[in-house]
Parts: sequence; structure tokens; C-alpha cells
Amino acid sequence: MIEILNAAELARARASGALVGRILQELTSRVTVGTNLLEIDQWVQVMIAEAGAQSCYVDYAPSFGRGPFGHYVCTSVNDAVLHGLPHDYTLADGDLLSLDLAVSLDGIAADSAVSVVVGAAQPSESMAMIDATRRALSAGIAAARPGAHIGDISHAIGAVLTEAGYPVNTDFGGHGIGSTMHQDPHVPNTGRPGRGYQLRPGLLLALEPWVMADTDRLVTDADGWTLRSATGCRTAHSEHTIAITDRGADILTLPAAIAR
Ligand code: MG
Ligand code: MG
Repeated sequence: MIEILNAAELARARASGALVGRILQELTSRVTVGTNLLEIDQWVQVMIAEAGAQSCYVDYAPSFGRGPFGHYVCTSVNDAVLHGLPHDYTLADGDLLSLDLAVSLDGIAADSAVSVVVGAAQPSESMAMIDATRRALSAGIAAARPGAHIGDISHAIGAVLTEAGYPVNTDFGGHGIGSTMHQDPHVPNTGRPGRGYQLRPGLLLALEPWVMADTDRLVTDADGWTLRSATGCRTAHSEHTIAITDRGADILTLPAAIAR
């Protein structure tokens, strides 16, 4: 089912998105060398509770995971890229950390992810990979206009990732979002222009380009959740929830969105 939100629901989506944006901004400012992944998870648990929101993750038990997830944020480090289960690991200088967060506020979910390098080290390959996912996300958002198709977004994302030299995995990609975290339509990170569902105002999408440096194959950790690159190479992930409007697309998961 594809949900189209009315004006009241869209207002709630903006509040939900801004909350996710603020939490991720706070996390990226707090995280440093010596931060433990379980500490990050505890921060998020508190921030969600203080906002009167609900975690989309803690009880999440999809067919592909060993559910329920039991934690509040995905923390994927270095070769881990998606669904990283928080565990007892202390971040070191130069670690690449991907944080993925989805919460529901007043019944509407928002979902966003960001990759950062921890500490003073700025490994050029990691920074380039993060930059490629951010540029791909921007290109996808620019292609998301009423009347355009899902394939236009997928093509825009895939073109940036491919041009940057990264293989594109199509097992996991973006998705519709609204009263639940994962909905139709699926938004692959590569595709053909003009194909697929036609966008209309009121549609919420989570766009999420992610890459692995030298492979498109994933392996699942013994924890049953964390997905890593099959070769052990580094990875990166960028995600925003957007709303299709009459004019184009609004990014909902920015910290400042609440001020609009
Ligand atoms: Mg996400
Ligand atoms: Mg998502």
C-alpha cells in the first residue's frame, strides 16, 4: 500500500523528521574517540523518551533479522553498513561510523542516516565514499518532483554512485514511509528513468544511497542483524526522509525543519 498524507499528517511528519534530524545532529557532535556504541544507544533511548516519541527499532522483527532488534539506533562501524546492532565496542580514531535512526512521533515515522569519521583522522578514501553517498542523496532529492517516477530518483542516485566508482547493491534501498517505517514503494539505488510509481504531493519517501568500496555483496554478522561488506572494505550511508510537495520535495529530517 502507498500512503498519501493529508496536510495535518504532513505537519506531524515535519515534526517527526525534525526530531530525527536533531537527535542525529546531537549524536554526531557527541561521538568521539572512546565513545562506546552501547553509550550511543542509551543516549538515543533517553532522547526519544524525552521527546515523547516511539522507537521504530526496539520491537522491530522483520523476516531478514533475528528480531526483535532490542536497541534504539543502528551503529555500523567500518565494514558494517546497514542494521549495525549496538554492542560493546569503543570507537577509535579514524573509525567510520554510520548512524541510522527512525522514530515515530504522533503516529508518523521519519528515518535518516549519516556517516562520519571519528576523531582527528580524515582517511581520504572514507571521506570520498561518504561524500559520494551525500551527493547521490542530493541528486535523488532533486529528481523527486510531482509527476516524476521512482525510476528517475533511482537513476539519479545510481548515476552519482557509479560515476564515483562504487558498485551498487540492489538488495536494500529507499522506501515509502508514513504511519509505519517501511512501506511501498521501494526505491532502488539504481534504475531507469520514467519507470515505476509516479510521485504525487503527500508521498513520503526515505532515500538512502549506501555503498561499499569494492563490492556489492553483503554478509550477515553472527548477531543476525549487522550487514557487512563481503570483502571487509569500508562502507558509507546517507539517508533523508522527504515529502513530495506541489513544488518539488522538502527534506524533513533536518534539525532546522521544526522552525518552518
Ligand atoms: Mg534508516
Ligand atoms: Mg530507511
